[in-house]
Amino acid sequence: MQEEYEKAGKIASKVRKEAAKKITAGMKVIDFIDWIESEITSQGVGLSFPCNISINQIAAHYTSPPNDDTIFCYGDIVKIDLGAEVNGYISDTAVTVVVEGDNVEPVDEQGNPLKMPGRLDDGNPVVTDEDIELRQNLVEASSSALENVLSIVKDGVTLNEIGKTVQDTINSYGFTPIVSLAGHSLEQNNLHAGISIPNYPDASTYTLKEGDHVAIEPFASSGAGITSDIPEYYIYSFMNNKPVRNPQAKILLKNISKNNRYFPFAQRHVKTSMDNNHFMRALRPLIMNGSIYPHAVLKDKADGMVAQTEHTVIVEKEGCEVTTL
Ligand code: MN
Ligand code: MN
Repeated sequence: MQEEYEKAGKIASKVRKEAAKKITAGMKVIDFIDWIESEITSQGVGLSFPCNISINQIAAHYTSPPNDDTIFCYGDIVKIDLGAEVNGYISDTAVTVVVEGDNVEPVDEQGNPLKMPGRLDDGNPVVTDEDIELRQNLVEASSSALENVLSIVKDGVTLNEIGKTVQDTINSYGFTPIVSLAGHSLEQNNLHAGISIPNYPDASTYTLKEGDHVAIEPFASSGAGITSDIPEYYIYSFMNNKPVRNPQAKILLKNISKNNRYFPFAQRHVKTSMDNNHFMRALRPLIMNGSIYPHAVLKDKADGMVAQTEHTVIVEKEGCEVTTL
């Protein structure tokens, strides 16, 4: 088990580092995600969730739908959140980068504006040097918050102490942590295994124990520090097999319950010959009857910029082992 956690961690951290170097303005988000996911799966391991690429005010839960035209632009603050799975043992890690390079005209071959569900702007953002500085400071705030937490994690640390460390660190940069997002415990085949690791002091006296596996993920925001849902859904989780009438939905649910049972998935991870329209039409009744849970894209409520840094750790008697270092 330890070995599998370590292997999942090592693969994810290597891909995360390479991805952070590779990202550049003008690149398509879907190509970037495809590259990341194939770097993971080509090692003979699984994805513990679809690679999340969340740009600027978007905090989490964006991944590309089929034929996504979203591109990265100069100055984007991009959360790259990815994970690997070895026999169900999970790594979950994220880094945030401020995108460099030259912008491309955000139009298609016909000269029409690109439809970009992964951006809240039109792909032609005005980014000043001051914007860049603020975004780099956000990245530093979230990464030093994580670093400070890792220095206190050990058997017996309370969730409140962790949350206080996150909040104090991020506040010291003049930003606010996102209180509606949290780290989480990990178990075999279970990405969110019950315990939430808060990003603010929540008065919890619950303590982490030696041998616990947890993902810790401070988010720093220049806005509200709380998220709101964008009613768009690209990541789904299988919940249970509820009866459904629609024959296409029945087939799709059987497929998902067999192949995507344990880990969140995106449309591209469902092996089906259904085209986009048929897939969506078959998926809807499954969402309605609670067989499938759709994860809404999350953004900062006040449209602030957001940075996230995340590692997976194993709690030890006198410290912790970071599997995704
Ligand atoms: Mn993550
Ligand atoms: Mn996580």
